[in-house]
Amino acid sequence: MSAVKKYFSDIYNSMATVLVGMATTGRTAFRKPVTLEYPDVRWELPERYRGILHNRIEDCIGCLACARACPVNCIHIDIVKRGKEEYGVTSDGTKITQWIPRFDIDMSLCMVCGLCTEPCPTECLTMTKEYELAVHDKHDMYLEFALDRDKVMAEKAEAEKKAAKEKAAREKAEKEAAAKKAAAEAEAAGKEGAEPEKPAADAEADGKPGSEEKKPDAS
Ligand code: SF4
Ligand code: SF4
Repeated sequence: MSAVKKYFSDIYNSMATVLVGMATTGRTAFRKPVTLEYPDVRWELPERYRGILHNRIEDCIGCLACARACPVNCIHIDIVKRGKEEYGVTSDGTKITQWIPRFDIDMSLCMVCGLCTEPCPTECLTMTKEYELAVHDKHDMYLEFALDRDKVMAEKAEAEKKAAKEKAAREKAEKEAAAKKAAAEAEAAGKEGAEPEKPAADAEADGKPGSEEKKPDAS
């Protein structure tokens, strides 16, 4: 190709490229946009979208079903048995028999499968539509849902103290009752032991048959 021919060919290719680009711009300039001005505008998510987990801890009964269902063991729960007088009730009427000083979910391990939410009897563990998981420090992905641990442990200590006091009082009452019963039984046994001689004495006194009455000597 001669130099002149190449010169005009380059001019033609450049103009064709510009025109193709302009045609593409012209075609899309008046179309409805497919992008959003995130984060000011966001997509509406599907109803069953699985985002970051949330636990409505007031309704959690500490049954551990969610932790058992989790395939990657990223749910960590500590439970402590409550005293009977400390039982609570969830919003759906389920009895709460445990203190839950720890309910943590490590979202950095979670694969957002939703298996943990299925067996939850009170439906307090749910998947939100929150999807912004980006954090500067991965420890920020460690979610803690338990109410104030110190407060719970203080309540637990108080409940244990109360239960121990009641147990001591119950044992004392039982001991007193047992001692009274033993004394009553001993008294009853003492009376029974004294009574057999009474009929003979009574018979002698009354001259009833069977009593040994002395007869006057015939000689
Ligand atoms: S969503 Fe899946 S991986 Fe995440 S905590 Fe629940 S069961 Fe575990
Ligand atoms: S399954 Fe539900 S109620 Fe049971 S421990 Fe997990 S979150 Fe709490």
